[in-house]
Amino acid sequence: MIQRFGSGDPVRLFVAGLHGDEWETTSALLEQLSPPDTGTLLIMPKVSDNEYLSTLDRDYYTTYAPHLREAIVTYKPPIYLELHCYSKESYPALIGDGRFERYGVPAYIEIEAGILMGSVSPRVRTDFFTPDNLCVSFEMPRNPLEQSLSVIRNLLNVVNECWSRQGFVAYMSQHYPEQTAVAVKNYLQFYGHLY
Ligand SMILES: [Zn+2]
Repeated sequence: MIQRFGSGDPVRLFVAGLHGDEWETTSALLEQLSPPDTGTLLIMPKVSDNEYLSTLDRDYYTTYAPHLREAIVTYKPPIYLELHCYSKESYPALIGDGRFERYGVPAYIEIEAGILMGSVSPRVRTDFFTPDNLCVSFEMPRNPLEQSLSVIRNLLNVVNECWSRQGFVAYMSQHYPEQTAVAVKNYLQFYGHLY
């Protein structure tokens, strides 16, 4: 279920196909990645195709996808990435300001061409990772245009070659300064107390 590329540190775990038919849009993008120049890439391209359950649900990482939690606990990846996809109807809820009030998580930020970046579920973020780990969740449109595909492919490659959270933030700050400033502010609002 987990495929391994490369060896040594840092260990990166990329997962897709987290629920429902999401895998149809996202799994191949992980399978097409090249081994990283340094360190390890672990991929789980299809976590589950069972009926949709949100990763914000308290049962997601325990009973719905216990094998994903198991992988996180086993490999303790300092770099962890979830690739999700969204339908047009879900877009406002993902980037909406009310997301923090409703679900206790920061809103997603649109990076470019419908590719959104956000935090992973607090169900795993606080329990299994340290504040300086890189945990990032990307959302891409279902039935993506070529431009969206090219943006997400590039971002997956950036995370696949980065060494740390700092390295990723440095890349993003250089290429997407406004979006990254908001994302970092959201992150610190949520996890700043852990420092
Ligand atoms: Zn999803």
